[in-house]
Amino acid sequence: MVIVMQDHANQEDIEEAIHQVKAMGYGVNLSQGDERTVIGILGDERALDWEHLELLPGVEHVVRILKPYKLASRESRPERTIVRIGSVAIGGNEIVIIAGPCAVESREQILETAKAVKKAGAHMLRGGAFKPRSSPYAFQGMAEEGLKLLAEAREATGLPVVTEVMAPDQLEMVIQYSDMLQIGARNMQNYPLLQAAGKSGHPVLLKRGNSATVEEWLMAAEYLLSNGNTRVVLCERGIRTFETATRNTTDINAIPVVKHLSHLPVLVDPSHSTGRDEYIESISRAAIAAGADGLIVEVHPHPEAALSDGPQSLTPDAFSEVVNQVRRIAAVIGRS
Ligand code: PEP
Ligand code: MN
Repeated sequence: MVIVMQDHANQEDIEEAIHQVKAMGYGVNLSQGDERTVIGILGDERALDWEHLELLPGVEHVVRILKPYKLASRESRPERTIVRIGSVAIGGNEIVIIAGPCAVESREQILETAKAVKKAGAHMLRGGAFKPRSSPYAFQGMAEEGLKLLAEAREATGLPVVTEVMAPDQLEMVIQYSDMLQIGARNMQNYPLLQAAGKSGHPVLLKRGNSATVEEWLMAAEYLLSNGNTRVVLCERGIRTFETATRNTTDINAIPVVKHLSHLPVLVDPSHSTGRDEYIESISRAAIAAGADGLIVEVHPHPEAALSDGPQSLTPDAFSEVVNQVRRIAAVIGRS
């Protein structure tokens, strides 16, 4: 971090700024030019209260050099992280496909879907038992009963399960039945949940909030990492823009951006990012071509009867075609 003093700052202002920095336990490196004085701060700047420094007399502005997220950044870990869930490795050469219904609705529905997505080539099963719905009157999920059915579907297919947790007091139960926690878009900045999921050490799929910047998203990941959880996977699920033709707008840019800034794997959710079954195949191809490590896709045996997110749910046949398309794109970019 560097403090740039105003051109009319006097010696007293400079000394006060140096005094304040030293009082916070940091070293300084003073550079007095003809027109400007610049104070370099020595030490890890992330814990430093830079806004306080900007208020000091004679200070023009404070320039941050390091990213505010440390553990999530490639500055701290240049090699890529691979998150292992059983025999599935997310972030390696192989594209990972997670598929399943938006919500677990019944034993028949989840077992039929799990078997179908496995047959089509999925590596993991998704399905919500706790559903964050925009309306309090909409189907809220089957809670523990749904978790038990997910565990049964895993037993039947061997597919590891990812499912959403919405509150810290649900964590223990959700961990008991799942292989990976999903922290949804609406909870990306639920700090008590991030802290508790971080401490749990259970793998986490962290969705991007629908109006979160990449930096806010990586800061949310930093909460998980700084609480001791290294098994974090990011998921771009579309952001809210002025466009209303689709449910959200898939931020394809975010894929190379996050891969540049962070060592964490990145998945794309084309279901929530488009909101319509007919757009999922093209956005899946685009996501893999742009460098995503995999996809999480909603699949329902009877989308027209789904209790949530029917319009964006693929039939097992349509999903199978998406997997075929992804296979072809993966080959073009040297992945499997
Ligand atoms: C979901 O995966 O069904 C879901 C609610 O996702 P998001 O948090 O991305 O809206
Ligand atoms: Mn959904």
